Amino acid sequence: MVEKDVHQGLGVGRRSRRPDERDIVFARMAYTPGGAAFEDYYLRHPELRAVDDALRALPGLCADGSRSFHPLNARIAPAVFALLASWRPLVAGGAGGGERGGERGGAHGGPPADGADALGFSRIEVSDDETRRALTARVKGLARYFGALDVGVTLLTPDFVYSHAGRHEEDYGREISLDHTHAIVFTVEMDFRFMKAAPGLPVVTESSRRYLEAAKVALALAANVRALGWSARAHIDGSYLAVLPPLAARAGLGEIGRLGILVTEHRGPCVRLGLVTTDLPLVPDEPRPFGLQDFCRICLKCARNCPSQAISREPVAPKEGWRISWERCYGFWRRQGTDCGMCLISCPYSKPDTPFHRFVRECIRRSDAARRVAVWGDDLFYGRRPFERWEPDWWT
Ligand code: SF4
Ligand code: SF4
Repeated sequence: MVEKDVHQGLGVGRRSRRPDERDIVFARMAYTPGGAAFEDYYLRHPELRAVDDALRALPGLCADGSRSFHPLNARIAPAVFALLASWRPLVAGGAGGGERGGERGGAHGGPPADGADALGFSRIEVSDDETRRALTARVKGLARYFGALDVGVTLLTPDFVYSHAGRHEEDYGREISLDHTHAIVFTVEMDFRFMKAAPGLPVVTESSRRYLEAAKVALALAANVRALGWSARAHIDGSYLAVLPPLAARAGLGEIGRLGILVTEHRGPCVRLGLVTTDLPLVPDEPRPFGLQDFCRICLKCARNCPSQAISREPVAPKEGWRISWERCYGFWRRQGTDCGMCLISCPYSKPDTPFHRFVRECIRRSDAARRVAVWGDDLFYGRRPFERWEPDWWT
């Protein structure tokens, strides 16, 4: 009962079954027409075939023919994502990990690959609460040291672990079994100067930079947890085994907003998320709701500014969480050639973390009248449609 209240207070939907990676729109787009994954998926989901075929016919992110295409700048994000793909074999520590490996590898039944043994260290035993607290503080400090903005810990429960792999045709349909007990979730900050270019090409360039940043932090952190003698897996772009936003909300990093992703109290949704799962028995954080659900009820600014009308205008988050049409959203991305970001820059919580904005957020947390004034003030000073524009760097 308590858990249900916590979930709804954070905008996190309740799930009756584990999420299936094969169902996410990015995975569906990766299936080659006529291939085994394609045939299997649309045999089981004929209702999605027409809408997915229409999406596949659109140009694509950074593609020639998309609205924001630039012959030089459109190469940056694909180059970064290709680099990230080459990092996937490292997620479980290299040796024995395999491209998607690690969910069963490492210390489960033996010492972790590239762990304390391999480095000549003994395992750090965790037998009392004081050691747990000290190691938790240390792990969080390390995450920040490597580049995280904020970091939290939560228990890893199966409801947010994918049931089956789907992003890559070679392991399509493989059952996922991740028996780690804890999730270390962190944010990395996006550069608002680039986000102001929404819905232009610099947004996907900035996204790729932050996926790279999150992957670097996750890989370094997982290596350090393994150096303590415990199993750890980094979850990086194209290699996630769990759904990150609800884990981040439960780890105290924010709440799920109307726009369907994590909104943090001090940077809004202008962050990317990273994850390391482990069996190191860390101390979980408590969720930290800051009044976002009440604010989203009256704000609607992301929904108003969404060019594809993908964001629901429902008065409150339904039991299953805020409703987004990912197909509409992704269709706009493909036409535009970039990952849009209009909802991110429209969100009043994306405003700079100044003393004035901190004061406003504190008022929003406490009073319905303050929430209404804040929406009005945000429209007045920042525009019902965001009007601050991107000033290109000389090299772009
Ligand atoms: S990214 Fe753009 S298209 Fe997608 S939900 Fe946000 S505003 Fe709408
Ligand atoms: S723009 Fe408004 S409604 Fe949308 S997520 Fe942000 S606070 Fe909520």
